[in-house]
Amino acid sequence: MIFVDVHCHLDDEYFKDKLGAVLKRAKDVGVKAIITQGVNHEKNQKILDLCKKDNIIKPAFGLYPLDAPNVICNEDAKDFSKSKVDVDTTLKFIEKNKNNIIAIGEVGIDFKFSEDEEHQVENFKKIIDLAKKIRKPLIVHSRKAEKLVIDLLEDAKFFKVDMHCFSGKKSLVKRGAELGLFFSIPANIIKSDQFQMNAKLLPLQSILTETDAPWLSPYAGKMNEPAFIKDAVEKIAELKKLTVEETANAIFQNYQTLFL
Ligand SMILES: [Zn+2]
Repeated sequence: MIFVDVHCHLDDEYFKDKLGAVLKRAKDVGVKAIITQGVNHEKNQKILDLCKKDNIIKPAFGLYPLDAPNVICNEDAKDFSKSKVDVDTTLKFIEKNKNNIIAIGEVGIDFKFSEDEEHQVENFKKIIDLAKKIRKPLIVHSRKAEKLVIDLLEDAKFFKVDMHCFSGKKSLVKRGAELGLFFSIPANIIKSDQFQMNAKLLPLQSILTETDAPWLSPYAGKMNEPAFIKDAVEKIAELKKLTVEETANAIFQNYQTLFL
């Protein structure tokens, strides 16, 4: 079986002393590629070293909307790490490394922890322009900003995009798929009505899989890891009334279409 995790944070402190074991468990179930996301300039700089450890790890450089220094965040956003590096410098570094990365991510807009629409939109537009310029797909976070994100992509006519953990309503899922966007469905689909709905609504050729590990674990009391991709594919196959193998192969093909 061949599986892919297109959205993961292997640079997280949690994986520090467990990376070897985590990668082994992923390989044992058949995971062939794990895209690990940089969320700000400081972390982008570290991602390449991480990828040198094992070529199953594919690098994406990004700027998480709440990490951008010009975005004003809400009181309850304390857990996010503000970058000390300005947006333009961050984007220049991504451009300079265009041949070393598979995608630009994690990027996007977040209205749960920030109401600063102005700066988030300004940054996201610059990021879309960069993606066009260096011809790299975007891996997009759109929490409580699902419609706005799709509007901005449509305005820019840029559809080489993976919508990560998309939590918008039915009509937006359909609209995104019609535009040609991909949607990565996380492992916690096994317990999430939203992601089960996404899997049912989306044509198979729009579906990718992710974990967002170490976050968003499908199992209570356990941290998430790329090996759990298998559980996501099994659930998607069940909902689509297909075999696990057919589903896994189609998703891997989608990964190649968008990222390779
Ligand atoms: Zn993420």
